[in-house]
Parts: sequence; structure tokens; C-alpha cells
Amino acid sequence: MIYANDPSRSSWITVPEGSDFPIQNIPFGVFIPADDIITIGTRIGNTAIDLSALHQLGYFEDLELPLDVFLQDNLNDFISLGKPHWRAVRDRIAELFDVNTKDLSSHPEHRERVLFPVEEVQMLLPVFIQDYTDFYSSREHATNVGTMFRDPNNALLPNWLHIPVGYHGRSSSIIVSGEPIRRPKGQTMPPNADKPVFGPTKRLDFELEMGFITSDGKPLGESISIEESKDYIFGMVVFNDWSARDIQKWEYVPLGPFLAKNFASSMSPWVVTMDALQPFAVEGPKQEPEVLPYLNQSGAQNYDISLEVLIAEENGEDSTIANSNYKHMYWSMAQQLAHHTINGCNINSGDLMASGTISGPTPDSYGSMLELSWNGTKPLSLKSGAQRTFIEDGDTVTMKAYSEKNGVRIGFGEVRTKVLPAQD
Ligand code: CA
Repeated sequence: MIYANDPSRSSWITVPEGSDFPIQNIPFGVFIPADDIITIGTRIGNTAIDLSALHQLGYFEDLELPLDVFLQDNLNDFISLGKPHWRAVRDRIAELFDVNTKDLSSHPEHRERVLFPVEEVQMLLPVFIQDYTDFYSSREHATNVGTMFRDPNNALLPNWLHIPVGYHGRSSSIIVSGEPIRRPKGQTMPPNADKPVFGPTKRLDFELEMGFITSDGKPLGESISIEESKDYIFGMVVFNDWSARDIQKWEYVPLGPFLAKNFASSMSPWVVTMDALQPFAVEGPKQEPEVLPYLNQSGAQNYDISLEVLIAEENGEDSTIANSNYKHMYWSMAQQLAHHTINGCNINSGDLMASGTISGPTPDSYGSMLELSWNGTKPLSLKSGAQRTFIEDGDTVTMKAYSEKNGVRIGFGEVRTKVLPAQD
């Protein structure tokens, strides 16, 4: 067992019942404490922990870390150190905050420099994302979309069961939870019209996704195999890949998504490590027909992560509109990464690879309004009685994720985004 994952460990920091952040989680993020400078940190319960301060105070002394590795505005350099360092740092944090360790807990001046209430820090985007790739790896999602727009009897395109289909997205517009977005404008072709019109999208949608963050890969021209992939995946976030369905429908032929997708994607601020998620690994769906040898995997390559989507109207309360699970994914992260690099494509520290919309098998587990409202034909009701087919101005969309087993809950917190009206 990974030392930091010990389910019997408790912390001298208070962890509220049902918290996503027990001492077994130890995610990594970037924040600004009130009136202070940007630092890399972690979180236990509702306490943010300044890792650069801990490092300056000598608590990581024997781990041979660069002096400024946590005094950064992103995790990229830390991720570049490689998996043995990620594990060593996380294990040291588990030890320091263990209820039986007194080094820091009995040192009030040190505690004051290191610990902050989470509500007093501002979370920032945790990584500098040079490249963002979006996959299309949920069979249920691809089947629903194919059924709606093509042919229910041939919903999956011929390549889908052989290739983890993906495309290169845009990284400049990826934002952190809490930042609002503006309704995008663009060209659409109204039904039965003979020429396109311009204006705000009428079909603004979310996509419930999870993303994984990579370390530096191999030199250009070399591939990462399924077996090697675990050494190159740092951790995961919850990811809302905003989409404008009417713009998408008109523009996507023949080269795929463009302005319908690149106006914004929102991510949760804490990166939960693959080490923390290891107890929740499960086998994925059986793959039939058999995949090509470079995509052949065995064992538990999926993860059991519960997902929830909520919508709140302006000044209203959250209504849950979907519950799904990451374990439904047909293609695993290992297969996605192996496929991405099989042609020799290189990857960098901080690259983001998103799953594609994660839809489950039942209508209440679909991961987009497109599917939940079945192309706008079945409105959803919110708690207030208001109805939604797509996302309205003033709405706030929230996504949450967590894994739970043997009394340990490892969560991601949330990604929460408000939609503002289109710019005049
Ligand atoms: Ca997507």
C-alpha cells in the first residue's frame, strides 16, 4: 500500500464529516493566501497548506527538491520531477499531518506561516497547459449523439470501437472554477433557412468530463506504451467542456469542432493524484471486438468516481440534474495516452487530456444537456419548477466528483461556473 493512502490514518487538522479532502487525499493546487504571494499547496479538510512555506521551514529537507519548486504559479516543474518525487512529497505530507506527529502541530509560529482557512485563499489554474486534447471515449455518449443525429441502428461510426477518437482542443481558454464565462456568439444555420445567421448561441451546453494531467513524455518520435502510461499521468481534475450545439452543428463538417468548443472549458482547482485514486481502480467495460495489440490492456484500468451535475438559476439553489460515473468509460486513460503517442507525438508536463462527455447507461446519467433534454425535446425541471433544455444566462453549472470505499472518501471538490449574457 502507498504510505499516504493508509485508511487508518487521521490528522491533527480537523476534517469535517463527508469532506472530499481527508488526510488520505493530499491533492496539489496553486493558490494566493490573503496579502501573500502565489504558492503551490495542498488541502486537508478546510485548511489550505502552503508547501513553499513548509519547504522553507525545512520540512522536506531530505527529499532533495529544488529550493523554489513550490514557489511557482503552476505545478509544471513539480510534475517534471517525476513520479518518485510526487509520491515522496505526498507521503511526507501524510506523515507531517498525522495525528501522532508533533513536529509542526506543536510549533505555533510555523503553523501560522503554513496553514490558511480555504475560504481565505484564492485558487488559481493549477497547471500551465501547453496542449489540451479532448477524447470521445464514452460509448453511451457517442451512441446517444449518433442516434440523435445519424442512424439509431448504426450509431457508432466504424472507427469508434477500434480507436480512442480525439481532437486537439484549445488551451488558452481553459479557466479555473469560479471564473464566469460569457455566452458565445457565432454563425448558425436555423432549421429550414437557406443562409446562416449570426448571434448568441441558443444552445449553450456543458460536457461532464474528467481530465488527466501528464508529466513530460519521451522525445519526439517515441511512444508511451500502455504499461508505461502510469508513470506519465500525474493526476485528475473535473472538467466542464463548454459547447455551443447550434454553432457546432453548422461548423463541424469536415474538420470537427472549432468555435463551438474553444470559447471556454472550466476545471476544478485541486489535482487529485493517481496515487490517491489507486484504491478505486476497477476493470472497465469488456472491449469487443478485440483492440489492436498496442491498445491491449489487462487488469483494473478504469476508476470508480461518482459524478454529479447541478444547475442553479440566478440567485437560486442548486438542482441535481445528472449522476454519472467515470467507470463507464470505454477507453481508459492508459489507452488514450498510448494511442496519443503511438505516432511519436510528444507530450509535456501540464498537458491536459480530457475524457470526452461521460454518459452512463440511463437517461438520468447523461453528461450533457443535449442528451438529458434529448436534443431539446424533453425539458428538465429544476427545484423551482423552472425548465431547461439548454443553459440560460445567469445559470451556474457545478460538477462534483468523488470516490468512496472502506470509509475513505477521496473527492475533487467542484468546478463551478456562472454564465453571463453575451457581450453587446
Ligand atoms: Ca468535449
